[in-house]
Amino acid sequence: MNRVINFSAGPSTIPLDVLKTAQDEFLSYQNKGFSIMEVSHRSAVFDEVINSAEKRVKELYGFSDDYAVLFLQGGASLQFAQIPMNLSTGKVCEYINTGVWTKKAIKEAEILGINYKVVASSEDTNFDRIPLIPELSKDADYTYICSNNTIYGTQYKEFPKTKSLLVIDSSSDLFSREIDTKNIGLFYGGIQKNGGPAGVTLVVIRKDLADRVGKNVPNILRYKTQIDANSMSNTPNTFGIYMLNLMLKKLIKEGGLKAVNEKNEKKAALLYSAIDEMSDFYKGHAKKDSRSLMNVSFNIIKGEELEKKFVSKALENNMMGLKGHRHLGGIRASIYNAITYENVETLVSFMRDFAKKNG
Ligand SMILES: *Cc1c(COP(=O)(O)O)cnc(C)c1O
Repeated sequence: MNRVINFSAGPSTIPLDVLKTAQDEFLSYQNKGFSIMEVSHRSAVFDEVINSAEKRVKELYGFSDDYAVLFLQGGASLQFAQIPMNLSTGKVCEYINTGVWTKKAIKEAEILGINYKVVASSEDTNFDRIPLIPELSKDADYTYICSNNTIYGTQYKEFPKTKSLLVIDSSSDLFSREIDTKNIGLFYGGIQKNGGPAGVTLVVIRKDLADRVGKNVPNILRYKTQIDANSMSNTPNTFGIYMLNLMLKKLIKEGGLKAVNEKNEKKAALLYSAIDEMSDFYKGHAKKDSRSLMNVSFNIIKGEELEKKFVSKALENNMMGLKGHRHLGGIRASIYNAITYENVETLVSFMRDFAKKNG
């Protein structure tokens, strides 16, 4: 069987042992004679899966029982709208603009006509950094950030100290490091980057915030509805939640977020130091103090033609998913949890070889 090294930004590589477990259980889940896909979401069998996933999310991050864990659909993109619909009460909603994904969230706030303000942005330097955070309102409905900017390859080293509650899009660094949960109102992400297949959005919300919702919000878009229904107001993505649960089980077995973060730091250090060493050939996009441990975006100084060649030569060498996002171009290596240190070593040695031959 040929498995490529998959540096895709998302959907992205899933650990082989998780895929194999799913394969083993595909036709007959735990020898019950049916697939997990073929069973009612209201059954005891599925209840155990979803409750276990919920428990594991809380255990990994250390979220208290003040928080509800939801598994929703519509992607992270639906959250861009659902968040202001539920959490804006007319006070200001503060947004920090760090790239395409926050711009989309801001656009939804604009469409909904809520009271919002972009309080900081790094757009003037093409989102190559996390901007300095100015004095924030003491009394905002929330402050919105994107923890890791998948396209530009920037990441908050720590979350801003806000006076109001934080809302965090963590789609591309979910389950990759420990976080300070203290000031979090809502923490969310599509799981397809670092938690399994596409089709499930993890939303962790402080339960009392769900009561803010105004009377014009449709039932299905209220967090309250899904909290009361244990994410089953409509039929959830049962197979996706099952896959996520397998991923979480593995993560806990391997030492949790602290252990995986240590691995991620080593992988990123290896790749960034290679880029820095070969700075006459490669150029990283993100400023050093904003560099992402998950998505490493860089260019070849000599230009686009060589970047194309890099991507196609990499493919010949069994490495896929290295083409940069269309908004930024260049090359992007996504080195999520499932990418090993050895995988990054393989990439780095390819990069050295490529620079030597084309420099
Ligand atoms: C991928 C991504 C999204 C969009 O996710 P969808 O599930 O496709 O809606 C949003 N935010 C970030 C940070 C992402 O990386």
